[in-house]
Amino acid sequence: MPDDRSPYSADGSGGFDSGVPTAARVYDVMLDGKDNYEADRQVAHASLEVMPELKQIALYNREMLHRVVRHLAAEEGSATRSAAAEGDGRRGVDQFLDLGSGLPTARNTHEVAKEANPGAKVVYVDIDPLVSAHGEAILGGDPDTAVVTGDVREPAEILAHPGVRALIDFDRPVCVMLCGILHHLLDEEDPKGIVTALADAVAPGSYFFITNFTRLGDAPESAELERVLLSQLGTGRVRTSAELEEFFEGLDLLPPGLVPLPLWRPEGVVRDSTSVAARFMTGGVARKP
Ligand code: SAM
Repeated sequence: MPDDRSPYSADGSGGFDSGVPTAARVYDVMLDGKDNYEADRQVAHASLEVMPELKQIALYNREMLHRVVRHLAAEEGSATRSAAAEGDGRRGVDQFLDLGSGLPTARNTHEVAKEANPGAKVVYVDIDPLVSAHGEAILGGDPDTAVVTGDVREPAEILAHPGVRALIDFDRPVCVMLCGILHHLLDEEDPKGIVTALADAVAPGSYFFITNFTRLGDAPESAELERVLLSQLGTGRVRTSAELEEFFEGLDLLPPGLVPLPLWRPEGVVRDSTSVAARFMTGGVARKP
């Protein structure tokens, strides 16, 4: 089991070890991306053997991300927009801090946010330096978007990072995105404490968007997948709904609450809400009062 989340930092040399799987690259396999190595594919294949629905689940996760970003950028935040934003006619949330953003893929946060709110600023943060290497290439010097290498287990460092501060004004509402990342934090790393530290630091009217693996009482493979991921990747906690609800404590969950991904404000007919694929991840959006 790898003893560090970053493939670069084990010996401090900055060397890259493609033989150590990472969450970003395993997820890239699930999304049929090309930025992965044999070690990542082995973990992905072992996971797919346990839960063949994982590729569909990754797509449901991306689809919810798109709906949430579009929704917040266009509408929900209009109730909390700043005087500055009012003045120039913008509406909706115009700052997104995408923590554990993953490797660039089809339709990234900044593309979706800017379609709904052209002035939106987006900072991507990920522990895997491959994310910033690839991210900077696709951003092509976009002044409203940045990619930062950082560890969400050190929230104070992320909040103080010059690359984050350059674009995000924490005196105004921001959407903090924790999409598919908290299950990569072990219990002893205190994911709830990390959410609380972030919530304490952001302005009232900010939003938290969380999706997470969810333990299913009627699907023993949800526990089996946790065993595979913890042993082969070192992370991958599959939490109960009650544990996930705790992440939102002190925040106001927006309707429809913490739900299977396809059920969060669907934009068309929901074709699947009862399968393991639909239910293995749940997600919600909450507002800091
Ligand atoms: N947020 C994207 C999404 O939902 O489509 C990507 C999710 S991917 C499953 C999880 C990401 O979290 C990976 O890119 C991984 O590198 C990142 N990650 C894991 N632990 C992290 C940490 N401690 N700090 C920052 N990023 C982390």
